[in-house]
Amino acid sequence: MQTIKNLRKIETICVFCGSSEGKVSSYRESTFNFGLAMANNNLNLVYGGGGKGLMGILAQAIKKGDGKVIGIIPTRIYEMVKHIKHDEDELIIVDNMHQRKADMYSRSDAFVALPGGIGTIEEVMEAFTWLQLGYHDKPVALYDINGYFSSLITFFDHMVDQGFLRKELLDSLIIDDNEHRLIERLKSIDLNIPAKIDRHP
Ligand code: AMP
Repeated sequence: MQTIKNLRKIETICVFCGSSEGKVSSYRESTFNFGLAMANNNLNLVYGGGGKGLMGILAQAIKKGDGKVIGIIPTRIYEMVKHIKHDEDELIIVDNMHQRKADMYSRSDAFVALPGGIGTIEEVMEAFTWLQLGYHDKPVALYDINGYFSSLITFFDHMVDQGFLRKELLDSLIIDDNEHRLIERLKSIDLNIPAKIDRHP
């Protein structure tokens, strides 16, 4: 049986997070701290580009810590947000969302979601689905600021209970509310998950 193994060196993290800032200041503060922690660990950022919401705060923090920021944005969104101050070292403008995702996935070694809306959830769930299917072998994590993801985690447990999600896959999802510990866990995780595709040939 094919298994998904990960002992890769983590150099670049693809972060998904809100294009809004959230209602309380701790979302902004913890996002900034996460960016600083990434930069202090010499981790580059790949993200959706632009300066909106938590996305912009994260990019600013990485720049403050002298880290590298790569934004990947489709033309259509770029036209909507280019007037907002943004901090990328490299901004890659692509034709569409599919191209954006392909570039984000190929350029990164791990995926982390911070609080966000429907776009954030869609992106991190796709990365997690691709891990389940063995299309990549990169760890996926939730940085759980303010317990933001607690109801989603409860729902994941329900999926396992009801036989729709394998426990070993859920166990591979790193969930942490401490940015330093989360980064250490990303660096040291050894994914060893049987690819689901092999169970359903
Ligand atoms: P949301 O969580 O709904 O705010 O959407 C945030 C996610 O969707 C980000 O990780 C981006 O990849 C993408 N996205 C949504 N809005 C924008 C925007 N204005 N500029 C760049 N990316 C965006």
